Amino acid sequence: MENEKFSFETRLLHNQHKLDPVTGAVSVPIQHASTFHQFDIDQFGKYDYGRSLNPTREALEDVIAELEGGIRGFAFSSGMAAISTAFLLLSSGDHVVITEDVYGGTFRMVTEVLSRFGIEHTFVDMTNLSQVKQAIRPNTKAFYIETPSNPLLKVADIKAICDVAKEVYALTFVDNTFLTPALQKPLELGADVVLHSATKFLAGHSDVVAGLAVVKDEELAKKLGFLQNSFGAILGVQDAWLVLRGIKTLHVRLEQSQKSAKKLAEFLKNHPLIRNVYYPDLEDHPQYELQKRQAKGPGAVLSFELLDEDCLRSFVSSVTIPVFAVSLGAVESILSYPAKMSHAAMPKEEREKRGITNSLLRFSVGLENPDDLMKDFSNALHHIKQLV
Ligand SMILES: *Cc1c(COP(=O)(O)O)cnc(C)c1O
Repeated sequence: MENEKFSFETRLLHNQHKLDPVTGAVSVPIQHASTFHQFDIDQFGKYDYGRSLNPTREALEDVIAELEGGIRGFAFSSGMAAISTAFLLLSSGDHVVITEDVYGGTFRMVTEVLSRFGIEHTFVDMTNLSQVKQAIRPNTKAFYIETPSNPLLKVADIKAICDVAKEVYALTFVDNTFLTPALQKPLELGADVVLHSATKFLAGHSDVVAGLAVVKDEELAKKLGFLQNSFGAILGVQDAWLVLRGIKTLHVRLEQSQKSAKKLAEFLKNHPLIRNVYYPDLEDHPQYELQKRQAKGPGAVLSFELLDEDCLRSFVSSVTIPVFAVSLGAVESILSYPAKMSHAAMPKEEREKRGITNSLLRFSVGLENPDDLMKDFSNALHHIKQLV
């Protein structure tokens, strides 16, 4: 592809949809039409109906496909719509091996919806390759990876798992929401389907809910395109435009947030009221080397565990900069409480078994000055110290 001579950050701006070919507009036009006039009774045009194909959504699909190094992208009405539609590639009687600290919504989909359709699953610790292999059954048709995982930032070896999957002719799905193609390219490591909650870093401004999928194989592209049209959970055109706009600044946002995340992780690691810090850039992170090898960076999300739930409650009520909310990957820093937010769908027992305790907070670093964030955290922690 002609664009390949450019670096990633340049390609965020200078791609095939940089200009509208009709008007020269420097922003992709929003095409609202749900249906398209056919000029010839025998030969229909490229576009016929908005669910099947829409030029604005198509621009986003082209852009994400190129950035992920795939051949086709698909845009959905949410990350869960993308993930759920990808799961429709499976059939009744199939089995999926899935990472145990998967996103709460994906956990719910697999355990409470797919199970009703006869699709079986086994949760494994994907950082442990022998567990992954042991989970294989004769009917295993897919491996589902999320790395770094949510919220414990465990890092799975994408290439090694893809190799295992290929041996048994199974597909590998990778949820690449946390790192985006700016930092990690699962298709290059052997994955078949890359999935995104574009709600997060790709769009980046907490103002749209969207999902994306990318594949690198023609056959799979046909199947997923068929499913996108059949199931119909497509992304609306205004939202597609918002994601396209967000993507233009992906590199600078992620770079800045990641830099701040590194500082914050170091700061928290050395604080006496913090029991654990989970961040792949810390040298004592169990998959520190692997993360360095398979991704360009650790990303901008970290988690940390306070001494106990009382400390957490005090911290959350004293901290002032971050919004305390569900979600991540935005311009503003977001502090989340996985136990009651992203992982509320997971039974307490399952949650704690996975290390997602009531004293754990997840922090998605935004674009604030990192010194302000550290000062804010420092004050909130100081406030706890007066309590204990
Ligand atoms: C948010 C999220 C999802 C779900 O995406 P929605 O856009 O909220 O439907 C899936 N995976 C990960 C890792 C997420 O953070």
